[in-house]
Amino acid sequence: MQVVFVEHKNNLSIKSINTPDIKDDEVLIKVKVAGICGSDIHTYNDVHSFRKPPASMGHELSGVVVKNGKNVNEKIVGQKVTVMPQRGCGICIHCKYGEINLCNNRVAPGVNDWLGSMADYFVAHSSIVFPIPEYMSYKTSALAEPLSVGFRTVEKADVKTSDNIAILGSGTIGLLSLHALISKGVNNTIITDIREYPLNIAEKIGASYVFNTSKYDNWTEKILNITQEKVDKVIIANDAPNIINEALKIVKKGGKIITVAMFNQKQHIDISNLQSSEKEIIGCMTYNKSNFYDALNLLEKDSRNNEEITNSIITHSFPLREAHKGFEIMNNKKENVLKVILRL
Ligand SMILES: [Zn+2]
Ligand SMILES: [Zn+2]
Repeated sequence: MQVVFVEHKNNLSIKSINTPDIKDDEVLIKVKVAGICGSDIHTYNDVHSFRKPPASMGHELSGVVVKNGKNVNEKIVGQKVTVMPQRGCGICIHCKYGEINLCNNRVAPGVNDWLGSMADYFVAHSSIVFPIPEYMSYKTSALAEPLSVGFRTVEKADVKTSDNIAILGSGTIGLLSLHALISKGVNNTIITDIREYPLNIAEKIGASYVFNTSKYDNWTEKILNITQEKVDKVIIANDAPNIINEALKIVKKGGKIITVAMFNQKQHIDISNLQSSEKEIIGCMTYNKSNFYDALNLLEKDSRNNEEITNSIITHSFPLREAHKGFEIMNNKKENVLKVILRL
């Protein structure tokens, strides 16, 4: 089968290898759609914290089960599925509390011997395989993973429907966090970006305000002019230098800042602002099962709504053999690029 690898920095190859064997508790999935994630681009640029080249690529996917392990009911064969692409060890303190995302020995595709989803076939333990309804398309299903991240940010922000929330950054994760927030009944949202295209999508999704920070030198003040008061919570979905201090300027006393972006560089924090006004900065890492269920429920609704959100967020699609084009287009971050998918 064909698999996409990052050999070394900015060097992609498609290798032919044997289709992997499955263990008793696993299934083999024929991949139909694999999404390119911002974190794949981090590996492509060799700045990812743990997924280092050479590495097979991809963890977002949808497909059809074609083979079941001995311990998996054979009825799953032929089922349309998506996968929550991480596994815990099952024995550490975090796994005991169901926080697989924090497992001390968490495994993910592209690390060790688990091959990534940008391949003809993908192996997954049956416990992380989720059936999807026939009416849901493969491309919509492949958004389950990034949308779960959106639901995790909502969970970490501990949102109330009356909250005023700012999302800094309208990449795929920023937009899907907005989508998740609105689905939970939050009506006061402001979202930023330096590009107009994603802000237009944010308006479609239902943001109360969209704000292009590139138009102002002192954008935090301008934002406060719009919101009238400081916001209850800020979700940071971009890694611009000084973004945390900017978030500290717009969040109210006692407010929460959720960091979901992956940071390549260290940030200095105005710690006395944080301390004296009891603000909190909270990390947010992938998702857990409940976030995945929330994502699937929302995607089912979107599917019945003509996939309007899917079609806005997935801006580009290439066959697997043109993976290099997909990576380049995402790496260049042009005006109208959000989620790029590969088709198989
Ligand atoms: Zn992802
Ligand atoms: Zn564990």
